[in-house]
Amino acid sequence: MTLYHLGIDDTDSLKFGCTTYVAALLIEELIKYSKFIDYPNLIRLNPNIPWKSRGNGAVCLRFHSDMSEKEILDIAMNYVEEYRDHKDEKNQPGIVLLKGEVPKCVRDFGNRGLYEVLTLDEAIMLMERMGIHYRRINNGRGIIGALAAIGNLLDGDYTFELIVYRRRELWDEKRFVDLNSVINFDRENKPYTFNNIDYEEERLLITPHGSDPVLFGVRGESPHIVRMALDYIKFRGGERWVVYRTNQGTDAHLIRKYTINELKPYHAVVIEGRVSKKPTIISGGHVIFSISDGTGEIDVAAYEPTGDLRMIVIRLMPGDRVRIGGGVRLLDNGKITLNLERLEVLNLLKEISVNPICPKCNKSMKSEGKNKGYQCKKCGRKTRERMVIKIKREISEGIYLPPARSMRHLTKPIQRYGLEKNGWNEEVGEFYGILLNT
Ligand code: ATP
Repeated sequence: MTLYHLGIDDTDSLKFGCTTYVAALLIEELIKYSKFIDYPNLIRLNPNIPWKSRGNGAVCLRFHSDMSEKEILDIAMNYVEEYRDHKDEKNQPGIVLLKGEVPKCVRDFGNRGLYEVLTLDEAIMLMERMGIHYRRINNGRGIIGALAAIGNLLDGDYTFELIVYRRRELWDEKRFVDLNSVINFDRENKPYTFNNIDYEEERLLITPHGSDPVLFGVRGESPHIVRMALDYIKFRGGERWVVYRTNQGTDAHLIRKYTINELKPYHAVVIEGRVSKKPTIISGGHVIFSISDGTGEIDVAAYEPTGDLRMIVIRLMPGDRVRIGGGVRLLDNGKITLNLERLEVLNLLKEISVNPICPKCNKSMKSEGKNKGYQCKKCGRKTRERMVIKIKREISEGIYLPPARSMRHLTKPIQRYGLEKNGWNEEVGEFYGILLNT
């Protein structure tokens, strides 16, 4: 038997389909002739790519099989052709099949796909050089995501997601998933499941909103936990389910540290520096501040959907040391700003130096010029020393995130800190099934 890695991406649009659904159907076909060596992988890539349709997800299936490369690619192509969005010109499916172990150059490509903007030419050149087979539909930009998914072996931290799909005739209908049953599941299985409910707004986070095949998706730390959702959650119209192993909730995209002068549009970055301009609220309720790191200065934006995170941001002061995780956005005027996804307050300014106060007149003394000290304009008293005063801060050092409803799929929620895994070396359990009478 031969080891294969089959990557698929860009089969859907905002109006129709879902790459994971194509994968779900493909799994049922491939499993007849193959032995999977891993759960199907759902790989989220750089969330700042402007041409993504939703969460920039791609799928990779890893299995042993006696089938030839041509047979596998033909089967995959048939499913993609049948279930892709034919109406949307922008839909650019790509299928990639890699035989044998995943070489380092493909792993590097996959790694960069998490935070950089990769080109179609680069993907093609790499595959031609390595003899990797692929198929493209339309322009086939999907091969970038498909190859990057193959390259992400999830050999560091990872999580699981159970996705329940709904019957074809319901794709345009309103979903029925019972909120209370999800609350029940969430409360009883915390912290091993995450981002199911927005308790602030009493809203489900597991159901998408478009007319696509996904009924709901539940995230968690193990296949066992996410499968339990099938027993807890009450829903209607389910057709089939798949458990994916994924990089969701792992911060996999926030791995590359940049200096400000290295930033490029659409990259997912981590930068460290000092707050250089006081945060201000602009119209729309967004909060903007600047940071500098010695190589440059950049505006950082905490947009309105980041909710209470803005209450922390507004309390930052020039001089505070912070580590920012976010996406580089290109503005219409050609400038770049940083979209805040994760704020780590490393060091808060606890004291500031000000012009001294005259001990006799109780008035602020005026500077006599650079290095010339200070003088009280009333009594003429002089001093060389500035005055240091302690300031009371209303925030503390630590990590701050937006609410789950506006988190990226890749963002690691606070409850996952301490639950990180380091590689996977287990038996593959049951990872798909058909639902009857739901
Ligand atoms: P969904 O989450 O519903 O599957 P999506 O958000 O994944 O949709 P796609 O339709 O798959 O959106 O479009 C993403 C496109 O971006 C694909 O063509 C993919 O190959 C490409 N892409 C993914 N990551 C990168 C990257 N780092 N650089 C350049 N292109 C990328």
